[in-house]
Amino acid sequence: MKIIFFAVLAWAVVMLGVAWFAPTQPVTATSGAAVSSAQEVALAAPASVFSARTVNRAPVEACEDAPAFTAAADRNAIDIDTLDWTPYGPQETGWRTYAPRIAVEIASGCGYDSPGFANALAGWQRAQGRPATGVLDPDSFELMKVRWHLMRPFVILNREVGCPPAPAADQLVVVRPGEAYGARPISLRADALAAYRRMVADARAELPSLARDRQALLIFSGFRSPLENDITCLERGGCDNITRAPCSAHRTGLALDIVVGAARGGRVDSTDNANRLAQSQTAAYRWLVRNAHRYGFVNYVFEPWHWEWSPPEQAGASRA
Ligand SMILES: [Zn+2]
Repeated sequence: MKIIFFAVLAWAVVMLGVAWFAPTQPVTATSGAAVSSAQEVALAAPASVFSARTVNRAPVEACEDAPAFTAAADRNAIDIDTLDWTPYGPQETGWRTYAPRIAVEIASGCGYDSPGFANALAGWQRAQGRPATGVLDPDSFELMKVRWHLMRPFVILNREVGCPPAPAADQLVVVRPGEAYGARPISLRADALAAYRRMVADARAELPSLARDRQALLIFSGFRSPLENDITCLERGGCDNITRAPCSAHRTGLALDIVVGAARGGRVDSTDNANRLAQSQTAAYRWLVRNAHRYGFVNYVFEPWHWEWSPPEQAGASRA
């Protein structure tokens, strides 16, 4: 088991350089309704996403009834806003931006500063063969990050065929004006757009705040051609694989950037730490983190807005 894990980890280190990118066009700020802690319940480990790679066997816990993890909870309560670290390269403070995704990973519906959350995290760490401290430390996050990366349909596709070609023109459709954020025409592969429509309809039916928000969950980028990708790299004196990828997921027509809010005065695609933190708190993002897998969508966790759809022809992809 350990041999398999380290083999996957070694491969992941190679793949990590393949698919990182950022959107191209600037957009303006939008709103995003925050979700209350009372709504942070009933997180379930989505079997379809974790599939064969899952180690998600944490027990259902009572959030305050885990006395062995009181100290770990206290540590997490401090670190969540103060941890000095570099999870994606640039310096960051605290791990609150990633807390909603971590909660799904460890199958905890408890508050991030609770003994129950620490207990669930300890169960996850134990299953990974790591010290079951219950404290969210950079090494534990690194393992999660690699796992999340390997779930991305585009990363899986790269592994199978290398940088993929664009879809045939007749596979792409233009999204409706009411689905697009901004005036630029946006196209997607038709099946990905159909999945997006099912997902958004359910999200709005479930959360009235999302239905009332005229910008939440709109699409601000979809298909971007390989030529557009190349031009972007040329204009910027090259693509570095970190902030801009020479092979963008958007060339597939299966990746879309979804409005999940923004910090005040920020852009919906800003990788600024404060912006991503604000986005991670919105009802739109939290609904997606919990539910998008049921529609075949997987997030690139560094960018709360970027989601990739798993096409049916893709073997091993994460599908509901
Ligand atoms: Zn994107």
